[in-house]
Amino acid sequence: HYSYYNPEMEDETQWRLNMIRQLRNDFSDNRLELWYQPQLSLSTGKVIGAEALLRWRSADGSFISPAIFIPLAEYSGLIVDIGDWVVNQACSQLKILEENSFENLTISVNVSIPQFRCGNFVSTVLKAIQTHQVHPNKLELEITENILMDDPQVVIDALVKLKEHGISIALDDFGTGFSSLSYLQKLPLDRLKVDRTFITDIAEEGQSVIAETILDIGEKMNLKVIAEGIETIEQQERLLELGCDEMQGFYYAKPMPGNEFMQFLKDNS
Ligand code: C2E
Ligand code: MG
Ligand code: MG
Repeated sequence: HYSYYNPEMEDETQWRLNMIRQLRNDFSDNRLELWYQPQLSLSTGKVIGAEALLRWRSADGSFISPAIFIPLAEYSGLIVDIGDWVVNQACSQLKILEENSFENLTISVNVSIPQFRCGNFVSTVLKAIQTHQVHPNKLELEITENILMDDPQVVIDALVKLKEHGISIALDDFGTGFSSLSYLQKLPLDRLKVDRTFITDIAEEGQSVIAETILDIGEKMNLKVIAEGIETIEQQERLLELGCDEMQGFYYAKPMPGNEFMQFLKDNS
């Protein structure tokens, strides 16, 4: 028996521990931000809501990508407290929207597996809604297929309860994860999100099959479908041809801080 020692492994662990320590400090110093990316309905041309996305600004002012720090927050368990903060922040933003006569907008929040595992996710969300006095159907939770991987029943039970209270549920990054289609029938869904990977080449010949199929599934299951990652007018045109109405992407707007989102709404109404 023998094993290798690779110094890179130790560097990697050290890097990870440092990042987690920094994230924990910055979160407790209230340095994380929640930004909002508008979602539009093309038939009305109006903003219908926004996806809330975490932003972490490092000491030198540059942003650390959520693709890097969310997995660390999940690994360390920090995502439970951060996720709680995100839900509360989103609810407080919903209240601000309401006070500015944008009461019909929805805010979608991304949710990770450890938040379900910790056992009090349902009460955390309900408490946030009550604290901020917002309508439950204005809050949408985005889950990914991967969330069902280790304990699907726990997640399904929690989502069913939340749905009973009026909260909306969306399936994010649909078609990119590891799940079985049978869950589609078990989850109390309201909306499917077509992932950017299926949008990128959609305007090219023969490249729209998956998006088209997701739209068909949505229609047959009576779910709304939103496409994400629209960057060009050609992608928008193709999606319209396929019957997609709801869009989110850099073509319309990038994620922005809450006050800029409010200004965006005022400029576009
Ligand atoms: P996601 O939920 O699929 O979010 C969409 C991502 O696509 C966002 O990246 C958004 O900025 C980006 N995006 C939107 N439109 C376009 C476009 O037209 N072109 C391109 N190239 N990108 C576009 P972001 O903000 O970097 O977030 C990455 C992922 O991190 C999210 O993917 C989500 O899984 C996770 N995340 C972000 N915030 C949270 C959070 O509060 N909680 C949890 N659990 N995860 C989060
Ligand atoms: Mg999302
Ligand atoms: Mg997504």
